[in-house]
Amino acid sequence: MRAFTYQKAKTVAEAATLVARTPNAKFIAGGTNLLDLMKLEIEAPVALIDVNHLGLNKIEATQDGGLRIGAMVTNTDLASDARVRKDYGVLARAILSGASAQLRNKATTAGNLLQRTRCPYFYDTNMACNKRVPGSGCSAIGGYTRQLAVIGVSESCIATYPGDMAVAMRLLDASVETVASNGAKRVIPIADFHRLPGNTPHIETALAPGELITAVTLPKPIGGVHIYQKVRDRSSYAFALVSVAAVIQKDGSGRVALGGMSHKPWRVEAAEANLPRGAKAVTDVLLAGAKPTSENAFKVILAQRTLAAVIAEASRSQA
Ligand code: SF4
Repeated sequence: MRAFTYQKAKTVAEAATLVARTPNAKFIAGGTNLLDLMKLEIEAPVALIDVNHLGLNKIEATQDGGLRIGAMVTNTDLASDARVRKDYGVLARAILSGASAQLRNKATTAGNLLQRTRCPYFYDTNMACNKRVPGSGCSAIGGYTRQLAVIGVSESCIATYPGDMAVAMRLLDASVETVASNGAKRVIPIADFHRLPGNTPHIETALAPGELITAVTLPKPIGGVHIYQKVRDRSSYAFALVSVAAVIQKDGSGRVALGGMSHKPWRVEAAEANLPRGAKAVTDVLLAGAKPTSENAFKVILAQRTLAAVIAEASRSQA
């Protein structure tokens, strides 16, 4: 690991200013992904600005009946909040399907959104990787691709976004609140927060340099049966091959988002009109244009079958 400085920010404005004015400085919250990347020298920040003491650790009701989740709320606290468990069950279930209890105790809401891909070539500094070293090539294309993306891929990168929490937040139409070093505030719809790789896979989100996430807001509850079904190679402490987040209403309508399939949580609202006609009718639209490899083509069928199981489970719970 390379040497770096460490400073605790006292205010949101101070944190954003410190990172913006120091080249290659980074915010640190739980550190559950960043510290691993620093040990491997995939990330080598010269300065870490600690944002754990800015008062961003509350979950509050919003005036329109939703919830405002502070950026530093831990995954454990978010998944165990009574309002989340009652009204946003898909979010609680998605969080509890990720990582381990110890990691969820440290991992934060903002950090979870910003976790980086687990593409094996990204973590191997002997291999070419456009995300780690822009312009160096992509070792995954033509390589080992079982875990990697099938839709939204590019000729530069076929990595997946690895998280679960963000898939549920995409389903719930969450918004990400930020503040820039000049004090400007933004609200970014979660649909626009994570980017597809295109020819700049190293740019993963809509955040500008030094822009700090302060909260994630959820709109008012939408009812229905909430399910998060994650399929993986072992039953815990593993990333999704495919995950399905769904809210299904009594009349069969609803929403669906997928994890493990793309460089961002994958949702196509137009596909949801097909929910009453079954899983295949949905995934035919949701995954139209997919470009799987021979090693991960199974994910297209797996997504369809997992969604079919989710629809059946919702129907049983409503009977
Ligand atoms: Fe790097 Fe993306 Fe290629 Fe993986 S898929 S090696 S992360 S460029």
